[in-house]
This record gives sequence, structure tokens and C-alpha cells, in this order.
Amino acid sequence: MKLYNSLTKKFEKIKPLKSGVITMYNCGPTVYWRMHVGNLRAYAEWDILHRALLYLGYDVRRVMNFTDVGHMTDDDDFGEDKIEEVASEKGKDPSEVANYYIGTVIEDFYKMNFLSPSGEVVHPDTDIHELGKYGWARATEYIDQIIDFVKKIEENGFTYETEQALYFDISKYDDYDRMFKQDLRDKKVGAREEVEVDPQKKNPADFVLWMKKVGKYEKHIMAWDSPWGVGFPGWHIECSAMSCDILGDKFDIHTGGIDHIPIHHTNERAQNFGAYKHEVVKYWVHNEFIRTPKDEKLSKSKGNALTLDEIVEAGIEPMDLRYHYISVNYRVPLQFNWEALEGSRRSRLSLIKKISNLDSDGKGGNLLNDYVEKFENLLKDNLNMSGVFALISELLKSDEKPEDIVKTILDFDRVLGLNICESLKSTEGLSKEVQELLKKREVARNEKDFEKSDSLRDDIGKHGFKVLDTDDGQKVERI
Ligand code: AMP
Ligand code: ZN
Repeated sequence: MKLYNSLTKKFEKIKPLKSGVITMYNCGPTVYWRMHVGNLRAYAEWDILHRALLYLGYDVRRVMNFTDVGHMTDDDDFGEDKIEEVASEKGKDPSEVANYYIGTVIEDFYKMNFLSPSGEVVHPDTDIHELGKYGWARATEYIDQIIDFVKKIEENGFTYETEQALYFDISKYDDYDRMFKQDLRDKKVGAREEVEVDPQKKNPADFVLWMKKVGKYEKHIMAWDSPWGVGFPGWHIECSAMSCDILGDKFDIHTGGIDHIPIHHTNERAQNFGAYKHEVVKYWVHNEFIRTPKDEKLSKSKGNALTLDEIVEAGIEPMDLRYHYISVNYRVPLQFNWEALEGSRRSRLSLIKKISNLDSDGKGGNLLNDYVEKFENLLKDNLNMSGVFALISELLKSDEKPEDIVKTILDFDRVLGLNICESLKSTEGLSKEVQELLKKREVARNEKDFEKSDSLRDDIGKHGFKVLDTDDGQKVERI
């Protein structure tokens, strides 16, 4: 498979460190609010990558973290800890906040049909303390490993200590800005007024490995003992420590959104070198953003950083959103707008209708090897997903046997993850929303409230189904 490596700025053929096995780390969310459509895009892309690698026969060893400490509201280290800020606003303990939002991540993963790092779709009722089993790693559960990692960097001479923190000294690493060329003198320290700056910090771009529970952080709740005093880890160090602890000091793929290139991943790479004196990650792969039509970042305050539940409330189902993301390549910038989402919704429903018109469940059919080969080649070509959807259209128009076409598309759905098989089945495959609406309509009809029943029929229509009232009750057909 070929992917774009942000470090070499080239498309590169993936040659795994160990034949047949891919080791991959995905930067996970900071669990202080519900994931928004931007975060969901990132995880949709890495879900496709994971599924494509499995389809191509690799054994995938993947890890994704939950950041539950150390990610500051300001990238220059001296903001507020995002989790502690929300905890104090809500009068809760930071671990309660993190637990709650980790639960919502698992729920969103489930609804979006995203695989867990271990390769399963995990039910949201799963005990939060069992998540390690599924390849999730929580920063606060890796404090010992983080401290050991920082010790290695210190022993190798890449750090200095001030009264407030232990820093990574970027002047000790010549190759610091290879992934993102930057004029390091320009990096502003404490650009925002409320940010307190450490007067003993040598270079604005040096970054915190361990923050001490002193000064403005005297009251920080999450704190652990360490060789540099009681305190808490910086944000970047957790990813280096967790990835190397679980995957080893050399692994294949590290992913994240493009926002991570200048700071988070540049710093992770520096820490890795500080600890091991060699390159740890072979391929750095980044997803483009979904932004506003004015090319601005989605933000909670502007009200456009919508959550999955808000999208569903507006009549777009999780599988529509999934289709929206996976029908383009991870490097294509996307705009967030309702017309485009509506368009993806129509395309998905039309795909399901075309398959259902073939009137076959694919059982007894044969895989069409020519198409499978083309499909694999498209995946290998830097995940050419628009090519994949064009191939599916071509297959649906072909004069191959219907059962072979359906069998082949259902096989492709191991990668697409659109739950095509479930969508083809009748009512039991309907989304929860449609089932709810049907139940309400049945009640309305029993109560002879025909106005309400007609309006519910329209609502069901918006989900792509026509309701037929038969002697055996309501039946639905795809529009
Ligand atoms: P965070 O919780 O901010 O660390 O974000 C979790 C993941 O979502 C990271 O990999 C980010 O790069 C990614 N991400 C954040 N915003 C967007 C966006 N608007 N579009 C795509 N990816 C995003
Ligand atoms: Zn990370």
C-alpha cells in the first residue's frame, strides 16, 4: 500500500517493519467534550485505513489513546488543563469528566461503525475499565511509563529543568523542524495575555515534559510524584510514551489531523529521538480537516462544531455521515455544510436501493475476482476511495449475475463499513430512528390521529422509506 508520509513529503510504499504486520498509533481525542464532526472525520479515515489493511491481509496492531491529562487550552503549555477546566466548571472530579467523555467516544465509535483499535465494534455498555483490552490507552494509566520515558530523554541530555517545569531543549536536536519547517525564533511564548510564561524558559519552542505542581498549577488536582517533583506530564509526552511502550521503539504508522504536524507530532518526534536516538515512526500520516465554508476551523463557540447526536437530530444518520467521509480521500479538505451532507445521504440511499433492486442477498454467489483485484489496487493506491465508489457503480451497471454483484459488494463492505447487509434487510435492519417513528405512527393510527400519522409518514419519508399500510400492519419500502 502507498500512503502520503508527511515527514518525507512523498507518497511512499508501506514496507512494514515486520512482514505481514502493521503497527499503528492514532492520536486520540482529549476527553473534555463530545467529539465533533471534525474529530469524527479523523477517526473515519483511520477506520478505513485499519479495515483496508485487514482486507489486504495484514495483521494490524493498533493503539489509540485518550488524553485525560496535560492537554492545555493553549499550545504553548501554560494554559489551563482542558479536563480540569471543565471539571471545575461542572463542580466534578477530573476523572468523572474523562470517564463520561470516554463513554461518549465509545458510543460514537459504535454508531459510526468504527473498529476499536483491536478490530472489533465495541458496545457502548462496555465497562470503561475494560477498554485497554480493545487497544485503547488512557494517559493517566501510563504515568509510570511516561516518567520512565522522560528519564531516558533526560539521561540523553535533551532536557533542562526550571522551577516550574522540565523542558525538552530543542536546540539539542538539529532535525527538530524536519516535518514542519518553521522559524523557531518566531514562536510566540504566551501570545495570549492570560498565559503565564516561565521566565527561565530558554527558547519559546522548548516544550514541557513534566509540569510541576507549583505557581499557577499549585492547585492542579491530577498530580503524581516524579524525579522532578509532584506534577503532571505535558501533552506530547503521553503519545510518545504510550506508543513506544505498547508498540515498541520502532513502529510503522502514526496518524493524526494536519493540525498536529507543526507542534504535537513535531514534538513527539523530538521526544522519540531524545529517548532512543533513532527515528521511531516510519510513516507519519495526516488527515485533512473539515472546515466551515469560509475555510475557518470548526469551533464550539461558533456553533458549527456539531456532535453526532446533533447531526442525527437534523435527519442525517450516522451511516450517511460515514459515507460522506469515506467517499473521498483522507487528504481532501472538506467543507461542513448541510447540502453536502444531504447529498451524501441521497447517494447512500441510492446505493442501497440499487443493490436491493438486484433482489439477492448474495448468498450462493461468487466473488468477482477482477473487481476484487481492482478494489485492492484502489485501496493500495493511497486509499483511492472516490475510485472505489466509481468501481462499485461500474459493477452495479455490469451484466454480471446479481448474486455475484451483491456478494462482491458485501465483501467490499468489510472496508466501507456501511452496514450494507443490515440496510438491505427489512425492518429489523432499519435505524433506531426509523423504528421509533414507525412505533409512534402505529400508536397514532390506533388512536385514529391521522394528522399525526401523516406527518410521521413524511418524517419516515425523509429517512428514505415509503410506508405501506397493509392488512398485516405497516410495511416499509425504500423510496
Ligand atoms: P483533539 O481532541 O483536539 O486532539 O482531536 C482529536 C483528533 O481530531 C485529532 O487527530 C485532530 O487532528 C482531529 N481533528 C480535530 N479537528 C478536526 C477537523 N476539523 N477535521 C478533521 N480532523 C480534526
Ligand atoms: Zn498524540
